[in-house]
Amino acid sequence: MLRKNCRVCGKASYSASEHRSWLCPYCNTDLAKEKTMDVNSIELAQADEQSLAKLGLKNKSTRGKT
Ligand SMILES: [Zn+2]
Repeated sequence: MLRKNCRVCGKASYSASEHRSWLCPYCNTDLAKEKTMDVNSIELAQADEQSLAKLGLKNKSTRGKT
């Protein structure tokens, strides 16, 4: 399963395969040029992003001052 993010409305659309034309189901923007992402890999990427935020790794510099 593949996924693309619409640059106009920011929503994700899913498809079983990459078609020549891929229209956003929400705003009908042509997503053909958007990056195709594997659903599983993007889920992992998001989870990783969230865990990093929870650990406070992104605010390391601010924390170091105290
Ligand atoms: Zn859209």
